[in-house]
Amino acid sequence: MLQGTVIVTGASRGIGASIALELARRGLTVAALSRSGAPPERAEAAGEEVARRILSFACDVAHEGAMQEALARIRAETGSIGGLVNNAGIHREGRADSLTTADFEAVLQVNTTAVFAACRDVLPHMVENKRGIIVNIGSFFDRLGVRGSIAYCASKAAVAAMTRCMAAEWGRRGISVLNVAPGYILTDINRDFLESDPGRAQIMARSFVRRPGEPNEIARLVAALYSEDIPFLTGETIYVDGGHGISL
Ligand code: NAD
Repeated sequence: MLQGTVIVTGASRGIGASIALELARRGLTVAALSRSGAPPERAEAAGEEVARRILSFACDVAHEGAMQEALARIRAETGSIGGLVNNAGIHREGRADSLTTADFEAVLQVNTTAVFAACRDVLPHMVENKRGIIVNIGSFFDRLGVRGSIAYCASKAAVAAMTRCMAAEWGRRGISVLNVAPGYILTDINRDFLESDPGRAQIMARSFVRRPGEPNEIARLVAALYSEDIPFLTGETIYVDGGHGISL
């Protein structure tokens, strides 16, 4: 099991909340970051022992310097830092012929630039421990051509590329960097699509398991990466998408 606190961004709801709870269930101390500083949804229902292992902090990852401030507070309150899960993410609908530059950059800011900055800023804290695991939450869209999702696809393909580069640069310092790429998971980011007739039809036609995934199916994989701690596994993108991204 990895030593030190694991930081999770965008942890108040959806996949991030599920990851924070699953890590705490396995005995890890979790710093749950969200824009509001609210604890992960359903934390209280998870029981006192689990809730006690989760400390909540406010951090808007789109704000330059916000992660550095959060890191100082996390160090002061929890001691050493062993992990970072870059989960916060946004999607803005828009096709290549009409998406504004502002919308394109807003997606890149949260999904790509903030991930780069958080990894860079957490590195010195992990190197002190001689071991750290960074898990970026990418997307199966990183290798697909999806109408209306050019900014999102670009942002997540960059995350896969950054994961390989950081793993190459930091491996000798004991840092593993991984990219977990979910398929369709029913959360607020895509509820409208997944609950529409075209959304349901696409899942039935393309997914090998003929259903969207559950947040907990991503959370259990991420938590296993921390609780099993396998240093030989690094630089890779792990697709958890029910086969959707490789289906015809
Ligand atoms: P969600 O919308 O429920 O959660 C996204 C979280 O990120 C929210 O808690 C939101 O508040 C937070 N966030 C957004 N901007 C932020 C900012 N500037 N600072 C801090 N937090 C911010 O959606 P989700 O499905 O739980 O998404 C989690 C991650 O999984 C995202 O990176 C998303 O791209 C990725 N993903 C989701 C799916 C899916 O089908 N749900 C598929 C592939 C990848």
